[in-house]
Amino acid sequence: AARKKNKQNGQLLCNNLFYEELERLNMIKEKEIENSMEKALENHEFEVYLQPKVCLKTGKVIGAEALVRWIHPTKGMIYPNDFIPLFEENGFILKLDQYVFEEVCKLLRRWIDEEKPLRRISVNLSRNHLNKQGFLKEYSVIQKKYNVPPELLEIELTETIVFENLSLLKDIIDDIHNMGFLCSMDDFGSGYSSLNVLKEVPVDILKLDRIFFVNEATKRSNDVVQSVIELAKKLDMETVAEGIETIPQVESLQKMQCDIIQGYVFAKPMPISEFEEKYNKDLAIIDVNH
Ligand code: C2E
Ligand code: MG
Ligand code: MG
Ligand code: MG
Repeated sequence: AARKKNKQNGQLLCNNLFYEELERLNMIKEKEIENSMEKALENHEFEVYLQPKVCLKTGKVIGAEALVRWIHPTKGMIYPNDFIPLFEENGFILKLDQYVFEEVCKLLRRWIDEEKPLRRISVNLSRNHLNKQGFLKEYSVIQKKYNVPPELLEIELTETIVFENLSLLKDIIDDIHNMGFLCSMDDFGSGYSSLNVLKEVPVDILKLDRIFFVNEATKRSNDVVQSVIELAKKLDMETVAEGIETIPQVESLQKMQCDIIQGYVFAKPMPISEFEEKYNKDLAIIDVNH
């Protein structure tokens, strides 16, 4: 029995060492990222990708969401889920979000100058901004510097930030509107306070989270989506369905009078140049006459 116990202890010790080692490697990795992120920003390793949003009434690409990627010189493409949590912890996300916003303003300026079709572009805003006084002034200064009509700019706030400070959030939405930008609630339905969010915050656009569409549609799930769309309309909000991957989903959302769809069914997020090539004319990309 004693030997058995010893063996178990040995195993435990082994496991602990293993996890300590993992932890240590993780910290080294995080340190490595922290040491390289500022340089990466200077070297333009962060790239804005665009994912089209398609209007179901006209079948046209009416906008796009800006989604950041880190094109690392040795590691290749890194997706936001692998660096944004760390950047939120160490505060770097404030700089990165502002960088993305400025890149988007630059792009819109170029589209105006080159008389390209103009599309509204949305950027994501980290919850960290809630505690940064006056950041929207900086956004407004950037928008004015590039002389971009503010209504072409949409700011996506995620539903989960509502928990943190509702009155602060309301002030921020007021500020967003005072600057002339549009404001959307991202990932709606993924959190816990969804209906309370609708009650309290006057956003212009409601983005229904992918979670509504990941499983096979049933009568019941369709009824829920339909009700959310109707509720949004009553509250004067545009609806965007996120994460749409199949044609039947598109047709069903069309019937439910959802305004806009975003998802792999049309396109994954892509480099700006590819977006410009693909959607260089203001043409319908889906058939809406049925
Ligand atoms: P999000 O804002 O909800 O963006 C939508 C995510 O869903 C994107 O993932 C997009 O690629 C993905 N997606 C779109 N259509 C489909 C689909 O049909 N199927 C599936 N499976 N996925 C789809 P991505 O680009 O990896 O970004 C993940 C999250 O990272 C974003 O979720 C957003 O919260 C955050 N993020 C991305 N860029 C930025 C940024 O510049 N600043 C901040 N603060 N957060 C960002
Ligand atoms: Mg988003
Ligand atoms: Mg979302
Ligand atoms: Mg999300």
